[in-house]
Amino acid sequence: MTSAIYRNPFTFLELPWYRDCPEAEVVIKGIPFDLGTSGRAGARSGPGAIRQASANLVWDCPRWPWDFELQDRLKVADGGDIDFPYSEPQTASDAIEAAAEELMQAGKTMLSFGGDHYVALPLLRAHARKHGPLALLHFDAHTDTDSHGNAFDHGAMFYHAVHEGLLLPQNSVQVGIRTNYTKKGHPFTVLDASWVNEQSAADVVARIREIIGQKPVYLSFDIDALDPAFAPGTGTPVAGGLTSDRALQIIRGLKGLDIRGMDVVEVSPAYDHAELTSLAAATLALEMLYIRA
Ligand code: MN
Ligand code: MN
Repeated sequence: MTSAIYRNPFTFLELPWYRDCPEAEVVIKGIPFDLGTSGRAGARSGPGAIRQASANLVWDCPRWPWDFELQDRLKVADGGDIDFPYSEPQTASDAIEAAAEELMQAGKTMLSFGGDHYVALPLLRAHARKHGPLALLHFDAHTDTDSHGNAFDHGAMFYHAVHEGLLLPQNSVQVGIRTNYTKKGHPFTVLDASWVNEQSAADVVARIREIIGQKPVYLSFDIDALDPAFAPGTGTPVAGGLTSDRALQIIRGLKGLDIRGMDVVEVSPAYDHAELTSLAAATLALEMLYIRA
């Protein structure tokens, strides 16, 4: 049996399927993988929940506060979910990397829906092969740089990504962190949640731009960067996070960055209430599409 049993039959935002729109510039991929989870499992159901919540956003076009319609500037299609045997992490990881590789070779930009955060590692491998090492712009409550984590740990993949040479640590920044990490030798700049919540969104954006500069960027958004009040449906919630408004304002401010790949991960609908988390994720994903348009 494979992960196809978690597949859902509808697309994000009622977008066309990629097979019917091969000219799409951005391709959405769901990745129903949660074998890297340390806390509560369930992120394998994230892609379906994000797509379902996007029904609330279909009518919002052009999306406030933008003055254009997404489809007038950017062709986006939904490529469905990546398929893999659900109990074999290595095979799954290889399948994720191969699916990303195929899209990279076709010259597409990916917007991936997790799945737990581990999926960023095989995605980054494929992206770095295409684009070279990337600046990481990472929203999260956790740094995910645990050097003791195993190869598939969703709290260790950015440690492995640095050691595999996939990232530009000097130009990489982690936003919303509010859990302990080893500061000595930490590879990335950290903008912790308290600091982010005390600044204006414009100041946070300015600091992010200063760190990243003109480098090509991989944008990875762990939904637990948001406070559990805004995103309860996730495996390892941590109090004291960002509001959804703050996160959206920051994302909106990033227009013009050289973004080569994006993901929204760790939505775990079994712990959600009233689709709060999946709606926040769908809205953040839509904002990411607008800044690419
Ligand atoms: Mn996290
Ligand atoms: Mn994470």
